[in-house]
Amino acid sequence: MMDFDFDLFVIGGGSGGVRAARVAAGHGATVALAEEYRMGGTCVIRGCVPKKLMVFASAYPASMAEARAYGWRASCEGFDWSRFRSALHAELDRLESVYTRNAEAAGVALFHQRARLVDPHTVELADGSRHRARHILIATGGRPWVPEKFSGLGAMTSNEIFLADRLPRSILIVGGGFIACEFACILQGLGVEVAQYYRGAQILRGFDDDLRAHVAAEMAALGIGLQVDTDLVDLERLQDGRFAATDTRGARREFDQVLFATGRSPSTEGLGLVEAGVRLAGNGAVIVDDYSQTSVPSIFAVGDVTDRVNLTPVAIREGQAFADTVFGARRQAVDHSLVASAVFTRPEAGTVGLTEAEAREQGPVAVYMTTFRPMQSAFAGGESRVMMKLVCDRDSEKVLGCHIVAPGAAEMIQLAAIAIGIGATKADFDRTIAVHPTMSEEIVLMRAPLRSD
Ligand code: NDP
Repeated sequence: MMDFDFDLFVIGGGSGGVRAARVAAGHGATVALAEEYRMGGTCVIRGCVPKKLMVFASAYPASMAEARAYGWRASCEGFDWSRFRSALHAELDRLESVYTRNAEAAGVALFHQRARLVDPHTVELADGSRHRARHILIATGGRPWVPEKFSGLGAMTSNEIFLADRLPRSILIVGGGFIACEFACILQGLGVEVAQYYRGAQILRGFDDDLRAHVAAEMAALGIGLQVDTDLVDLERLQDGRFAATDTRGARREFDQVLFATGRSPSTEGLGLVEAGVRLAGNGAVIVDDYSQTSVPSIFAVGDVTDRVNLTPVAIREGQAFADTVFGARRQAVDHSLVASAVFTRPEAGTVGLTEAEAREQGPVAVYMTTFRPMQSAFAGGESRVMMKLVCDRDSEKVLGCHIVAPGAAEMIQLAAIAIGIGATKADFDRTIAVHPTMSEEIVLMRAPLRSD
């Protein structure tokens, strides 16, 4: 009989790790958690939360311009970054202490240190102390990845942006994914001159093509210098600290700052995983089964470190399912299909289910789509358009995917995800009486298909 100090040792105090620790403790397990940086992880400290607060901050100039059309004498000048940054960090401090308090209140022993595995049941902390645990959970998340030839030049990633001393006057954003598009809109809204280079033909690869085109057009209309089919080939740090960027089209342009949003990679380096027998994928992600169990039976992993669906609510669900399975006698696998997500561009994009191209691979489809100028901004003379799209199985009329680009799309898609999750058909949408006057009523008022196979 082996002696253990804890039933569970969690490495990583982010969304997935903290949920797993608290739930396991609630099931009666003795739990420890090690976090080397700040409790709350990427989402709370340098991701979703500060990003969303910056999204709010960045929207005010456009709101004020609209307010003038509605009769207000309103202006929005002189964004004070340091004042905003202080308030932002005060809020992050508050949230971090909530995470710490909640974990401690659940009885979790916290170690504010880096941890690594020694063997399938032993964790070693930075101070050299060793702890034996019946189960170990790897919840170390991911980190921004920058192409090697551009690292070390002092360019930013999403990690640094919240800590910047001041906002640059101009910035080049490299990438066309979630982070690149969100920060292009945020920084443009805060008054920064934004250029964005994306190496492919259209931003937001993996999303529905109509959604991608719509978001790209709206971003360009905001004044973002989005260039697709353009990649960075050379980056030089100038004497004055600015950057000179040469792109694949041969242009050389100077920018105050460069932000790499070229993807994230799982944080597995130096954790002793391979040595303990844990199998990793080629990109370093921990390979797990449906129950988040690794190739070593006592070691589990949840969240971005497993590179399944890299979203906070998914990590939370995986942490919950792991704790319920191992400590709650309730075996649970997480269903990774039909996970709704949102990109906080301006306007934002919400999506759930299959893209039109994915649906067509499964069989004939009927596609319903509308674009229009929403009442609120159209009244103010705005040209911005929203887009709503339903992708349906042509024969059964089951709604397979919903894609929305609109102010509030993230809020709308949450509700659409419930309907689609329970298998709603186009007839169910049609039967629903509109809520008027709203933008979202259009989702139940699309009568004729735009395309049908
Ligand atoms: P993404 O994987 O979404 O995007 C990475 C982008 O960088 C892609 O456009 C990719 O191009 C490009 N890229 C990759 N390698 C290179 C290279 N060597 N040179 C030039 N361009 C390159 O990653 P993000 O960093 O934007 O976001 C990471 C994850 O975080 C997301 O996938 C998402 O899961 C999560 N996230 C979610 C948010 C939300 O829910 N709102 C917000 C932010 C992040 P290509 O398409 O050609 O591969």
